[in-house]
Amino acid sequence: MLDEMYRSVEGYELIEKVKIDLILVCGDCQTVRHFDDLKCLNVPDKYKKMGDFHKYYSGQEKVPKLTIFVGGNHEASNYLMTLPYGGWVCDNFYYLGYAGVVRYKGLRIAGVSGIYSHHDCNRGRFERLPFNPDSIRSIYHTRRLDIFRLQLLSRNADDKDPLDVFLSHDWPGRIYDYGNKNQLIRFKPHFERDIQRKALGSPLTEPLIKQLKPKKWFAAHLHCKFQAQVKHDTNGRCTEFLSLNKIENRRNFMEVIDLEPNQAQESEHDDDLYHDVEWLTILKKTISLENSSSENVSCPNINDDKGKTYLPTDDEIKQTLELMEKSGGLKIEKNFKMVEPVIYNRTGQLPPSMDMNREKNYKNHLTIKLLERLQFQSSEAPDSRDQKIKQEDDFKVEPDTKSEPGNCTNGQGIKQENDSKSSIKFEPHIDVKPKPFPKVKVEDCKYSSPNNVEFNNNTKIKKRVFPEGQSQVELDDEGCLPVYVDTKGER
Ligand code: 5GP
Ligand code: MN
Repeated sequence: MLDEMYRSVEGYELIEKVKIDLILVCGDCQTVRHFDDLKCLNVPDKYKKMGDFHKYYSGQEKVPKLTIFVGGNHEASNYLMTLPYGGWVCDNFYYLGYAGVVRYKGLRIAGVSGIYSHHDCNRGRFERLPFNPDSIRSIYHTRRLDIFRLQLLSRNADDKDPLDVFLSHDWPGRIYDYGNKNQLIRFKPHFERDIQRKALGSPLTEPLIKQLKPKKWFAAHLHCKFQAQVKHDTNGRCTEFLSLNKIENRRNFMEVIDLEPNQAQESEHDDDLYHDVEWLTILKKTISLENSSSENVSCPNINDDKGKTYLPTDDEIKQTLELMEKSGGLKIEKNFKMVEPVIYNRTGQLPPSMDMNREKNYKNHLTIKLLERLQFQSSEAPDSRDQKIKQEDDFKVEPDTKSEPGNCTNGQGIKQENDSKSSIKFEPHIDVKPKPFPKVKVEDCKYSSPNNVEFNNNTKIKKRVFPEGQSQVELDDEGCLPVYVDTKGER
């Protein structure tokens, strides 16, 4: 899909002789890095396909144009959850986080990820790996806190610093009342009942249209092109809504738009993305409201006195700016790095992960860095508050004597049935003649982690596969994985 999207954009540029600066994507990008991420993507089994994101992630393909996206309901949620406040998912491909605001050429671009669920919107962000049938869905349901944070922008949205673009995956509730509803129903008759019940679109994002008054609101999810115009009382302002079809339907999936920045700042005239200082102040002020309970949790209401105490003051915004300037400024550094160990360069094969069962919560250096730059006390940072999260270091490999050939075993000795849809199958085809260290043929392994290699014949070695501090390693010309010997283990 990404290949096709970039081809379409480049084709348009060639034919129309124009240059497109930025691509905005409204979710369901999938962001599957390797085969095992499919375990965290909620789609029917027949759709569990690798897609093409992994090529961009591994660097095999380059993202040709800066792309910004919000998450939908079909994403490798285990990956996106490492970036709650946004960040690069690969070079030149920026995720806005559960909610987020960035600036590009002076344009103010905000967005919210996920879709609406009445059942989950009041719960904390409790989801941890491995996902179960409940959490693999709830993880992409928008939470009230994401919305509250965006509502706190409204103070500046009117005149001082208006929003140019808002991105969401599902439609804001009742947006059909502001466009050609009859045509929509003719085209999508199964929406009629939901429209009558006022149940099409998200009631969570509905108030944001009038509170934030973005010039443009782009969405997706309902697989059709639909336009609407919401007029606001003040200064003749209006929000133009546009939702497009999905790329697979091959029509109306792309629209080229001219956007005039209205408050371009000197420093933002280059091609880089910038943090939005008001948004960072809001994140800083509301981090204490984050909650990891799976129960319903309370969230302040923007219309209450208590809710209003979270509005960022000019002084607080200034303090955030000073903090950011001390550590490099507001420009978003192009510092994508893979988050977890992955073996690449296995010609013609899907890249395997180092965590077949998708159990480990890898921290994302971009999230850690942003939290550090905003100077959260360690007790405030969401990860350190939550002792339940299993981190990479918590996983110690125990010898598993019960494995049978043909069954994959993960590092904890948990047996996993061979299932061509959801796990990598390594056929036990190797001869077991010892090979001299320090190289291991990757075809001989059915599992490897930074500290261990398990062979197809179920023998294991406890060796560091990756050099200290590195999370990825490239195979050499002979397709071998270097092993860094630092224990007395024998193969
Ligand atoms: P996705 O592409 O996310 O798998 O699925 C979206 C599909 O669900 C689309 O075909 C869309 O028409 C349908 N859909 C999503 N939300 C609603 C809704 O609120 N009402 C109805 N009737 N269909 C919906
Ligand atoms: Mn969707």
